[in-house]
Amino acid sequence: MEQGKLFVISAPSGVGKTTLCRRLLEQISGISFSISYTTRNPRQGEFDGIDYHFVTQNRFEEMVSADAFLEWARVYGNFYGTSKSEVLSRLEMGEDVLLDIDVQGARQVRRLFPEAILIFLLPPSWSVLEARLRDRGSEDSSRLKLRMANAKSELEAMHEYDFVVINDDLSRAAEDLKSIVIAHRCRTPRILARQGLIQALESS
Ligand code: ADP
Ligand code: 5GP
Repeated sequence: MEQGKLFVISAPSGVGKTTLCRRLLEQISGISFSISYTTRNPRQGEFDGIDYHFVTQNRFEEMVSADAFLEWARVYGNFYGTSKSEVLSRLEMGEDVLLDIDVQGARQVRRLFPEAILIFLLPPSWSVLEARLRDRGSEDSSRLKLRMANAKSELEAMHEYDFVVINDDLSRAAEDLKSIVIAHRCRTPRILARQGLIQALESS
């Protein structure tokens, strides 16, 4: 069976990764989100097993020792990791998988899966990014400053990505993302991998 593809989304905090990933998953089938493990505390409105698997640092370290992560990284003092078994089983079943991970994680994924599709999201401006982070209400002012400072250095990794989507208008940005996924499904090697389809065409 044809393998699924890995789609990786990264962006500075507050650009809109979570919002756009949700939109994409509502609009397109055959792709599922990989729920990461994290040692950070849940935010208001976040639920264990839906937004993240919230685990203790001990549990996370056990998982690292057991080689349970495809990639993992420390971000803003917390650990985050992608479950290896979850992702590999879905790819093997031919399902596309969406990862919302930071640039350190994206580099690890690129090494393991050179054919993964890396998408970087940009805010329309710094002032809009700051306003989104502030309006989300998840950070106090010192953490907000830290996230804004990190955002500028994270942009330096943008050239390592295959696509850039500017998240100004939400619907348009969601359309861009959807187009990237659909275009990859139409690539010749993927179509050729569907032997059944090709044979059916040849015999008709
Ligand atoms: P991230 O996951 O990248 O940290 P979020 O998806 O949590 O970012 O978005 C940060 C805030 O910005 C949220 O309050 C969200 O509702 C808002 N937001 C995201 N995209 C847009 C957009 N295109 N226009 C306006 N607000 C947006
Ligand atoms: P937040 O705490 O705002 O949800 O996420 C903080 C950062 O951690 C974001 O850049 C997000 O993409 C990243 N992140 C979330 N899950 C993972 C993961 O499994 N691995 C890595 N490397 N980064 C992650």
